[in-house]
Amino acid sequence: SAAKDRPVRTAYYGTELESGGTLAPLVIGELRGALEAGDIVVYYQPQVEIGTGRVFGVEALSRWQHPVYGLLGPDSFIQAAERTGMIGTFTQFVLDAALEQCARWRAEGLVLTVAVNLSVLNLLDRGLVEDVQAALDRHGLSPTVLELELTEGSAMVDPRRSRQVLGALSGMGVTLSIDDYGTGYSSLAYLQKLPVRRLKIDRSFVAGILDDAASAAIVRSTVELARHLGLDVIAEGVEDDETLLALRDMQCHAAQGFGLGRPVPGPQLPEVVRRIHDRLPSVLHVPTVGAGR
Ligand code: C2E
Ligand code: MG
Ligand code: MG
Ligand code: MG
Repeated sequence: SAAKDRPVRTAYYGTELESGGTLAPLVIGELRGALEAGDIVVYYQPQVEIGTGRVFGVEALSRWQHPVYGLLGPDSFIQAAERTGMIGTFTQFVLDAALEQCARWRAEGLVLTVAVNLSVLNLLDRGLVEDVQAALDRHGLSPTVLELELTEGSAMVDPRRSRQVLGALSGMGVTLSIDDYGTGYSSLAYLQKLPVRRLKIDRSFVAGILDDAASAAIVRSTVELARHLGLDVIAEGVEDDETLLALRDMQCHAAQGFGLGRPVPGPQLPEVVRRIHDRLPSVLHVPTVGAGR
């Protein structure tokens, strides 16, 4: 594929620990070894349809189980993967792991879509389309189970090329969504020209809707505008039931956040889904989710 991985010896990149505080410079050359050693693991966070309280999908979020530093969040290594030319390989790894997990859940009767985050560099890689198709084929999955998340600005870096890549992916049947919506500078008028199906409203707005009138107005008007444009909306960073109920009043379709379920390793996800299905119907005053799931 076009994103050729340059060999990496040692690069340094200051990084922050998930727990806060700054890590000693991280040896980026380790990232390749980490992939090979199986130290990169994918966690999954549930996504809930607010109208029914049903979990319909998950977002794949990568973690580095570092032998010395412990569990590192993606903010400490994604940029490094981009700078060292490893992001093509990295994204392939996450995509493959996520689809494998998705197929396994399906075999167990748990039908979920899976969303994978793309780096801006992935969008410049024409090989991405073939790689996505190959990964779907490998796991016997339809493109409709897969969602790919891109940030607002990423399609603007090389609009012509990314439009081709996005057009091909969406033509295949993959769902495309805009991540962290509201934090970039793009207008919906622009985004609407991309083959995007869904907006993920950034948690910096969602977290404030109960206390801050401006945040509430931004979320409310985004939901409304998206509806007129035929786009789905998911609110990120929902940390409590009050926020979930406020989002429902705004007619927001879907939600994701610590208040619903934290990201967990794949094998733990079915239990998280069960807990959500046990708890949410009474919060939302809706019928219980069907016996199966
Ligand atoms: P994102 O795609 O916007 O993912 C959501 C982030 O918010 C995740 O952080 C998630 O753990 C966190 N989050 C979810 N719910 C809540 C909540 O209620 N409250 C708060 N405070 N946080 C919440 P994480 O896993 O640290 O990921 C950070 C970012 O790293 C992601 O933001 C995404 O842009 C990027 N990322 C994660 N995995 C990958 C990957 O495999 N490839 C690429 N290219 N980027 C990734
Ligand atoms: Mg995301
Ligand atoms: Mg996001
Ligand atoms: Mg984010």
